[in-house]
Amino acid sequence: MSSHRNVPVMSDHEHTPQHVGRDRVFTGPVYHEPWTGENRRAHGNIEYTERCTECGAERLVVSNQDDYEYSPWSLPPLHP
Ligand SMILES: [Zn+2]
Repeated sequence: MSSHRNVPVMSDHEHTPQHVGRDRVFTGPVYHEPWTGENRRAHGNIEYTERCTECGAERLVVSNQDDYEYSPWSLPPLHP
């Protein structure tokens, strides 16, 4: 099993990703080792954002057919 689907969870829950915003044209890889890995087969088509419905963390996804590459989850900015 390839490792690119094993996205780390940087919180006490398993993130629940929801597709938000519009699909964008693929502009480059979004993986960031060692947290996520490259999946070249996912490159070349579209990129979009996913947001966790529980905590608001976001990640980038590049997708091509049934292949995906993910950025690490990043938490939303803290508000004073
Ligand atoms: Zn979350």
